[in-house]
Amino acid sequence: MNSQAKIVVVGAGIIGSSIAFQLTRRHQNVTVIDARRPGQGATLASYAWINSRDKSPREYQDLNRRSLDMWPRFARELKDDIGLRWGGEMRWSATEEGAVALREHAEQLRSWGYPVTEITKDQARIMEPGVVMDPFTSGVYCAIEGHVDTQRVVKACLNRVEQSGGTVIANDGIASMNVEAGHGGQSGVTSITLKSGRIVECDVLVLAAGYETTSVAAMAGIEFPQSQSPGATIVTDPQSPIFRTVVCMHTPRDLPEPLMNIRQFANGSVMIHGGTHNGSLGDSSDDDAAKLITEISRFMPTLAGAKSIEIRSGMRPMPEDGFPVIGFAESVPNVYMAVMHSGVTLAALTGEFAALEILDRAEIDLLAPYRLERFTAAKR
Ligand SMILES: Cc1cc2nc3c(=O)[nH]c(=O)nc-3n(C[C@H](O)[C@H](O)[C@H](O)COP(=O)(O)OP(=O)(O)OC[C@H]3O[C@@H](n4cnc5c(N)ncnc54)[C@H](O)[C@@H]3O)c2cc1C
Repeated sequence: MNSQAKIVVVGAGIIGSSIAFQLTRRHQNVTVIDARRPGQGATLASYAWINSRDKSPREYQDLNRRSLDMWPRFARELKDDIGLRWGGEMRWSATEEGAVALREHAEQLRSWGYPVTEITKDQARIMEPGVVMDPFTSGVYCAIEGHVDTQRVVKACLNRVEQSGGTVIANDGIASMNVEAGHGGQSGVTSITLKSGRIVECDVLVLAAGYETTSVAAMAGIEFPQSQSPGATIVTDPQSPIFRTVVCMHTPRDLPEPLMNIRQFANGSVMIHGGTHNGSLGDSSDDDAAKLITEISRFMPTLAGAKSIEIRSGMRPMPEDGFPVIGFAESVPNVYMAVMHSGVTLAALTGEFAALEILDRAEIDLLAPYRLERFTAAKR
């Protein structure tokens, strides 16, 4: 694609920002548009654990693993402190049935080459003396996982876009699209109109508007089914370091809800993610946040006095079958879609692969299972 081509990215979450950054690295002039301030969607609420843990089938596990392995390079290329922390994740079980499930899952992941190792209670205690793990029927540790500060990633990507001559338009959502029939009878989006009335011309339109991509894509006549998956995290005031070895920890999955995930930012603030993919934290109120802190203090007593200073909530981008949608839309071939859960883990791969598909017209076979047309094909 010639470097004068007008590429417009709608959505400045971690996915749109990563794609815009990779296009910029390839000397492409990019315009990024967001209805809000960049990074305020699912990317803000995200627990941002970089992992390939609860993923199947194997090809999807591999996709996430590949992206996990691409993160250090992505971070180096950004040339900024993005709060990327490695150190791994630990979890344990509290019942005998839970121990069987934890061990079986770890065994399957190891057979896929994913290094989840079993640890004894004594080992777990030495690794994390500040965490109360009682009862403890089995434990696992995965040393290759990490987490990242998503706000810093978005900022770093968009800084590079602007420094290279690209444009970032914030607080001005897309209102409509001009779709025209092109050569060969195929339609294409030639320009978009923003809520302010501003018109932005495009040769390629990247839709990375997270959960809102369904309504945005509909403006081009593209049908894209998503499930509703609200989620939330709370952030506490700064606390002294809670972990010695790991950077992420999950409370036992075989105890009654809330299931909790915990990580700590460089400034000491702790992020707690409570809940499942079907919902989190009830109504995301201050009461919920206080309840989570009380619950987590059972496992991490030093957090007993922590205060919630921020509740971050958002809709997970969740294509109907739970897998990503990445690639050009067949019905409007200059529209490239990039919508997924686990978008923090997958951001490193998605940015790089999208640039290859958009600029080099590559058809990456690893992305074949994740094309939009699997939904339309299912209807035929
Ligand atoms: C509670 C929670 C926990 C999570 N935990 C993890 C985790 O541990 N690991 C992991 O890998 N993933 C996790 N995820 C998923 C991950 O955060 C998302 O997949 C990822 O952030 C999606 O990024 P995105 O850029 O696609 O979407 P978003 O961050 O939602 O960004 C979309 C952007 O599009 C903009 N937009 C919307 N409509 C318009 C419009 N009309 N015009 C212009 N702009 C528009 C929005 O303002 C927004 O900035 C979690 C998500 C949640 C909610």
